[in-house]
Amino acid sequence: MQRTLLSVFLFFFSILTILAQQPKKLNTSEIFEAVQKLNVLGSVLYVAAHPDDENTRLISYMSNKVKARTAYLSLTRGDGGQNLIGPEIRELLGVIRTQELLAARGVDGGEQMFTRANDFGYSKHPDETLEIWNKDKVLSDVVWAIRKFKPDVIINRFNHRNPGSTHGHHTSSAMLSMEAFDLANDSSKYSEQLEHMDTWKPTRLFFNTSWWFYGSQENFEKADKSKMLNFDVGVYYPQKGLSNNELASLASSQHLCQGFGRLTQRGSQQEYVEFLKGDFPEDKTDIFSGIDTSWGRVKGGQAIGDILNNIEKHFNFRNPESHISELLKAYQLLQGITNEHWKAVKSKELKAIIEACTGLYLEVSSNTPTVSGGGSIELNIEALNRSNTTLKLESYTISTNNEIVEKNTVLEANQKQNFKASVSIPKDMETTAPYWLADQGTLGMYKVDEQKLIGLPETPRSIRVTFKLLINETTAISLTKNVVYRYSKPDKGELYRPLEIVPEVSASISDKVFIFENDQQKEISVLVKAGRNNLEGHISLNHPEGWNVYPSQQKINISNKGESQTLAFTVIPPKFQNEGYIIPKVNINGKIYSKEIVEIDYSHIPFQTVLLPSKSKIVRLDIQKRGENIAYIEGAGDVVPESLQQIGYNVVRIKPEDITAENLARFDAVVVGIRAYNIVDALKYKQQLLFDFVENGGNMIVQYNTSRRIKVDHIAPYSLTLSRDRVTDEFAEVRFLNTKHELLNYPNAITAKDFEGWTQERGLYFPNAWAPEFTALLSLNDKGESPKDGSLLVAKHGKGHYIYTGLSFFREFPAGVSGAYRLFANMLSIGKDNVNLNKKLND
Ligand SMILES: [Zn+2]
Repeated sequence: MQRTLLSVFLFFFSILTILAQQPKKLNTSEIFEAVQKLNVLGSVLYVAAHPDDENTRLISYMSNKVKARTAYLSLTRGDGGQNLIGPEIRELLGVIRTQELLAARGVDGGEQMFTRANDFGYSKHPDETLEIWNKDKVLSDVVWAIRKFKPDVIINRFNHRNPGSTHGHHTSSAMLSMEAFDLANDSSKYSEQLEHMDTWKPTRLFFNTSWWFYGSQENFEKADKSKMLNFDVGVYYPQKGLSNNELASLASSQHLCQGFGRLTQRGSQQEYVEFLKGDFPEDKTDIFSGIDTSWGRVKGGQAIGDILNNIEKHFNFRNPESHISELLKAYQLLQGITNEHWKAVKSKELKAIIEACTGLYLEVSSNTPTVSGGGSIELNIEALNRSNTTLKLESYTISTNNEIVEKNTVLEANQKQNFKASVSIPKDMETTAPYWLADQGTLGMYKVDEQKLIGLPETPRSIRVTFKLLINETTAISLTKNVVYRYSKPDKGELYRPLEIVPEVSASISDKVFIFENDQQKEISVLVKAGRNNLEGHISLNHPEGWNVYPSQQKINISNKGESQTLAFTVIPPKFQNEGYIIPKVNINGKIYSKEIVEIDYSHIPFQTVLLPSKSKIVRLDIQKRGENIAYIEGAGDVVPESLQQIGYNVVRIKPEDITAENLARFDAVVVGIRAYNIVDALKYKQQLLFDFVENGGNMIVQYNTSRRIKVDHIAPYSLTLSRDRVTDEFAEVRFLNTKHELLNYPNAITAKDFEGWTQERGLYFPNAWAPEFTALLSLNDKGESPKDGSLLVAKHGKGHYIYTGLSFFREFPAGVSGAYRLFANMLSIGKDNVNLNKKLND
């Protein structure tokens, strides 16, 4: 069901977004809106923690109704979330969610900013968050965002006053915003930034409150609103044919990987902001009250405003070109003002309007989507003046060599001009992959040293062409275009991709984790991909001590760019439990490469090429197991089946309709995927069959489900109450409640060591009450909380065992955590020896 809905959304958005990836050209109505916006010199910065935290209704309202320059500062890129549309997690998910934010801003008209904070996963308290993040660095980045964007008004999504009531990242975002509000204007703070940017004093700070923060609509109605401003964010925009909240829904529906596709909303709707800091607005209907947001704000602005306000007042919808000479006059005056901030912001806006009024089509496309340093590309430059304005292309400059190519060509009305250019790419040119992933960061922070890159949503394109145009024989304007790659697909039409610089070679190992359950060797293959033609070199595999890899080195020979070669290595594990990483080292003329290229291709965002360190974990397990055949019932999706196959189990995925007594009899154990009872309706009718299977000697292992929206009346054969108890600290001490229990001793003796190296968390949604038939085996808790004993519960039921566990095996398996495998093997094996024993005795 979910899948169908999703494909419907993907279908609609593919229409919207294929167009969105094309460089945008404004129509008359959009030009008029741009002129209206040009005449507002006010700005709003919205601050929260994750992609999708942002209130698009308010961002859209500020951008489209108030016409303020509006930005969303998301402290993180959302690496820690879940992906509902594909396999990408962690860094790669952060790349997708970054692009989804940009797509959302493309709809609501906002801009997008970030910090270096990494979304490391769920955090209960800002104290923990700010310890894992480098608080000082993130605060510095928020200060940087304020100094750079220079907002008059800042709006926090979250309440800084109630730590512990929501995700720690959320509260932290509000707390940091509160601090940065004051620090941004203090030149003694983060003074290294002042080399690039002035200090800035925002006028006021708000919290975007709602009834939700008051527990109920009733409470909110009674609340003191003397310090609150409210806006009707349901206003209608006739120029767009859309209500503001409709537009906002379209924007937040861009967050597809989080399943945020949703129905649009219309009609009057109030949005509230609570005043926190700065100058209280005298006029409560105006968020900019007391701030001059007209051209009068900047010295020399009045004359510019006179021209532009007149254009706005008498805008010619039939022929916007008629405003060109006035627009040029305003542009010339604008170049003379001393306020560098507004000069830069408004020049960019004004140039886009002038370009649109002439219908100018200026595009630089490459003959290839990718190129590596030292290579070359052919550019096709298309210049077309679709107006009667006199446009002269004086010259263009390509950023790779900054050579000025004189043209001095008049662009006649509607006569297309094409130029070709061959471009050599400098050998040391940086790749265009996401800059924040270039160096290894920490759990809580990306490593970005270059101040100017910090906060940018994307890596700036390094191959650009700057055109110098003379308009109406009076005004010189330069326009810079990134190079694009244009192609078509029979079923999709014309498509665009950014031109990307990739390394000359990349290498990826087939899997991220290899589990060796005994001392048998495994063959591991490495895919080497050429970023240029005629690639020659050799490859070896770095490995931990005690392991052996054959052959030690292999030759690489690939003729064509984009082609790849697969090389197999034999990996021999040591005799005892041991783990480490293998890393491919590709040597091309003495230069060593060990990164892999990951391509991300969805229709709602531009094509992404990501470079990541190429490495895989190899684990030699000391593991014993009983039983052989496992049935797996799918839930929200986890890699438990593949992981159990890696340790030698025979795993069969069974659909709810195939759950019959007869089918189940073939298995030693049934494993239920995460959240299966939350999302699979059909399981309602299968529970009794599963319990019968346990009674007859099978083992049933149920992984975590959330306490709300459970589709079955009885999740276990004995009473069991799920709660929201979770232990997010992956280092939390694990105490054994019943050291003698079979599950902790057989066939593997589980010790504290098996809980070392866990990742992201210990577990979630533990039961907090259970029938006496259950035995609780482990006790653990986060710092300062009471012990949680429900993470692993086992009950003998008939001849078999029922086990409920909220431990995060689904996170530990893909990370190759050996203790998680050993404990899971015990869960599958429980009672199995006795069965064999009994059989033997009966024979
Ligand atoms: Zn969030």
